[in-house]
Amino acid sequence: MRTTSAGRSVIVTGASRGIGRGIARVFAQDGARVLLVARDEQAAIAAARELADEGCEASAFAADVGVWDDVVRMAAAAVARHGGVDVLCANAGIYPARPLADMTVEAWDEVLRTNLTGALLSVKACMEPLKRSGQGRVILTSSITGPITGYPGWSHYAASKAGQLGFMRAAALELAPFQITVNALLPGNIMTEGLAELGQAYLDRMRDAIPLARLGAVEDIGHAARFLASPEAGFITGQALVVDGGQTLPESLDAIVRT
Ligand code: NAP
Repeated sequence: MRTTSAGRSVIVTGASRGIGRGIARVFAQDGARVLLVARDEQAAIAAARELADEGCEASAFAADVGVWDDVVRMAAAAVARHGGVDVLCANAGIYPARPLADMTVEAWDEVLRTNLTGALLSVKACMEPLKRSGQGRVILTSSITGPITGYPGWSHYAASKAGQLGFMRAAALELAPFQITVNALLPGNIMTEGLAELGQAYLDRMRDAIPLARLGAVEDIGHAARFLASPEAGFITGQALVVDGGQTLPESLDAIVRT
């Protein structure tokens, strides 16, 4: 595919594994300078080193997206190392299952702090360099869970992911004067390290619920992110893009057509 990211400075939060690592890889292989962010510095370094070994420009930064001082330092590191911030992929998120009956304020707050407050703080910390970019891009990793579907045990997670879309719409309006677009990706079931541990039987059941008959790859989300970051997507803002292999389309399992 044509390179659209050459020389652009991209921050990906939650990039030490899973979807964030896939997003980072797609941008890095497209020529971007990528800052891979996670709380576990060693894991972030290992993910960045893997990309650097492939000839990409990538470095690691340890930060908790729910901590203001951390994300301020994160933005400063991208400016110092990569010359600015052109693209912020606010992807870091957690999803510990907790049924309503066992929900505590602490468990609720931890998920909201990471997934929703983390998105706000990351965007706020990167605002000035994104303005200077002239074509700044913010791409939030939301989910189908919350905005479109529900799942038992994930009321806090669903609220955080639906909340991201409300945040996105207001932020898109506030940042439009600076030619910064703000969009969200809504992944369905994506094959990550954590999902693989759930076993083949579980993976098979999930695949059966997807019209395109496969789980998503982390690169599927990366490719969508790269599109939203591209010049060609410069007139798209405040939008939610579902990337789920059609998972949210069928009215029932009977509506899924198999050959
Ligand atoms: P994952 O494999 O568990 O990876 C999460 C990443 O986020 C790790 O790098 C983790 O590193 C980092 N992280 C967690 N809390 C953080 C914090 N407070 N500050 C900075 N980094 C933090 O998760 P994933 O499945 O790839 O999910 C990534 C995003 O996609 C999440 O927002 C999730 O809600 C969304 N999503 C995933 C799926 C799916 O099927 N996997 C579907 C829909 C949406 P540290 O722990 O070292 O910080």
